[in-house]
Amino acid sequence: MRTSVIGYPRIGKNRELKFASEKFFKNEISEAELLSVASEIRKGNWESQKKANITFISSNDFSFYDNVLDTAVLLNAIPKRYQELGLSDLETYFAMARGYQGEKGNVKALAMKKWFNTNYHYLVPEIDDDTEIRLSGNKPIEEYKEAKAQGVETKVQLIGPFTFLKLSRYTGKKTASDVAPAVVSAYVELLKKLSVEGAQWIQFDEPYLVRDLSSEEIKLFTTIYTTILAEKNTAKILLQTYFGDVRDIYSDLIALPFDGIGLDFLEGKQTATLLAEFGFSKETILFAGLLNGKNIWKNQYEKTLSTITSLKKTVGENVVLSTSCSLLHVPYSLFGEDALPKEYIKHFAFAEEKLQELSEISRIFENEAGAEEILSANKALFVSRVDSTDEAVQKRVNSISDGDYERRPVFAEREKIQKEKLNLPLFPTTTIGSFPQTQDVRKNRQAFRKGEISKEEYIAFNKEKIQSCIHLQEEIGLDVLVHGEFERNDMVEYFGEHLSGYVFTRQAWVQSYGTRCVKPPIIWGDVSRKEPITVEWSKFAKSCTNKPVKGMLTGPVTILNWSFPREDISIKESTLQIALAIRDEVLDLEKAGIDIIQIDEAALREKLPLRKSDWYSEYLDWAIPAFRLVHSGVRPETQVHTHMCYSEFTDIIPAIDAMDADVITFEASRSDLLILDALMENHFKTEVGPGVYDIHSPRVPSVEEIVNALTKMREKISDEKLWVNPDCGLKTRGDEETKASLQNLVAAAKIVREK
Ligand code: GLN
Ligand code: ZN
Repeated sequence: MRTSVIGYPRIGKNRELKFASEKFFKNEISEAELLSVASEIRKGNWESQKKANITFISSNDFSFYDNVLDTAVLLNAIPKRYQELGLSDLETYFAMARGYQGEKGNVKALAMKKWFNTNYHYLVPEIDDDTEIRLSGNKPIEEYKEAKAQGVETKVQLIGPFTFLKLSRYTGKKTASDVAPAVVSAYVELLKKLSVEGAQWIQFDEPYLVRDLSSEEIKLFTTIYTTILAEKNTAKILLQTYFGDVRDIYSDLIALPFDGIGLDFLEGKQTATLLAEFGFSKETILFAGLLNGKNIWKNQYEKTLSTITSLKKTVGENVVLSTSCSLLHVPYSLFGEDALPKEYIKHFAFAEEKLQELSEISRIFENEAGAEEILSANKALFVSRVDSTDEAVQKRVNSISDGDYERRPVFAEREKIQKEKLNLPLFPTTTIGSFPQTQDVRKNRQAFRKGEISKEEYIAFNKEKIQSCIHLQEEIGLDVLVHGEFERNDMVEYFGEHLSGYVFTRQAWVQSYGTRCVKPPIIWGDVSRKEPITVEWSKFAKSCTNKPVKGMLTGPVTILNWSFPREDISIKESTLQIALAIRDEVLDLEKAGIDIIQIDEAALREKLPLRKSDWYSEYLDWAIPAFRLVHSGVRPETQVHTHMCYSEFTDIIPAIDAMDADVITFEASRSDLLILDALMENHFKTEVGPGVYDIHSPRVPSVEEIVNALTKMREKISDEKLWVNPDCGLKTRGDEETKASLQNLVAAAKIVREK
């Protein structure tokens, strides 16, 4: 049984790439040193896969920052503003990713967006009418050769032209179809070059195919691939899809002469039906995505084997067992997770263990020696799990009534009551919550974790931090203050640690964007709150000032979406359990005198189904009520804020309004301000704080820039509803740039008020 891995994590087992890149950004290491760290990582990745006998191993799945950005650069889609900086190739690449501020100029980064329904983010390629698309790089070729030199024959992974075109942003008159011919020529030239080097398989990733597709899109896709397949050389072509099924294009897809087609049988709810109904070409190899590339639970071998057997009945012998998507979305390996008892560990499979699973399933399938033991050990895992049920929690969820989902009185009345009580100026200024997590903050936490300092010392340090953070905000002149979130490593893990039903890993890092990684906790069983979580910190912060201090929580949908969820109960049920736990915290904060409570739903959109037709019925119809359940118990005068990390909700505005928060802040500075039109058109009732500057870059925005942003916002949002804030938390920024940026923000708000 042949096996395939769509892509492998690349940040390094111990996040070597992250650390090396960050040093490179600070000029602490040379480009050559960074390149050498990168090649070590690739080497290790190929070795692991080779050791597990994987038949189809990818190259070019590595990236210094992001594969979509790699593709843009490969195709010469480098906007002029970056070219004009006159930097080296690698520095230009990083300027596109992170923005640039220095001797050579001052430019913002490309926009960043969520990669389909994952927590990975890609950079949005920008194409204007002058962009001269051509093959201008050789990364895929170099990486193919590099693997080959190490004795590993790889399939070359590419972001496919269709997905690239669909994800790009067109700033001129040209559209995707206008640019397509040039893009196709560039890919054809690349295929030629790869064939010359001896590449045997090229994998074209086309996840965009799992979305709802229009007839024009289907036509664009078929035109592109008809040309590519006609011009192909010796290398075989694998059309790889993931994150769903390809119901809109299935019959067109199987009619094209691909050598391989990769389909997702896990997230693709209709994949099996499509195959049964429309068949599959006998000349094409089916790469069956059966091993979950997104979650960390052990594969249920029996189930997988039976799917393979039935697939073989329809397709014949041409079946390859594959991951369902790139393993980029799971951590590297369980190695080092020795703090977790074996009873837990044995249920998990990270990337390296998934390689093992692929090889074991293939061995069982071939009936090799030891197959039976492997299978029965795997079966045993699915019988029962320690500590996973809590009857009280289940009972509480079952007794939620319709009224528990509604806050009273209605928004308009609350708005009046709150304006009177809080008495804030027009265009109130605030931040999203976290302040820079500088070295000292992390050191303090680590020292406490390692038992090097006492709990009292740990708390005393954080209190000092909170106090100076409050004073800093007072000095800057912000209106609604925050405590700074110094006690939090991560907005989800921190809450998970105070909830029962969660387990934690030490180094299960997953890349979120560029050098940023997250360490999602694992929902093991039924969830409940062990004790008040944030109350003491918020109370202390409030005692340091006369200004209002926002309490800061993470919402249930985000907690769920940024955790590895259970697969034995629905995510809806887990979310309601979490919602009840956070509801208790909200009520405790209110009791402690906190007048404003922010409940972050940074990841609300994460699990929004990729197909519009499923949005409400499969997700929003329970996710939005789950959020309301959290805050519906507060008094009218308590102001509830929420925050989202993107502005991409133009299409779900009624759902966002139905969260019934009093204020929502969101990212707006990196994307265009189209969202504002949509808010206006939909008569959005909730007050809004569209981020006035981008915190993902160290660049300090000027007062003028912020005034301009606010002026634009005022055209669409009434003055009474507009808040002024950065677009996300400041935790990844430095102290200096934070202060400078916020001073400019407050100055800008004052100028606009005076107008
Ligand atoms: N309150 C969080 C912070 O400021 C929000 C983080 C986020 O939206 N990702 O860090
Ligand atoms: Zn955010």
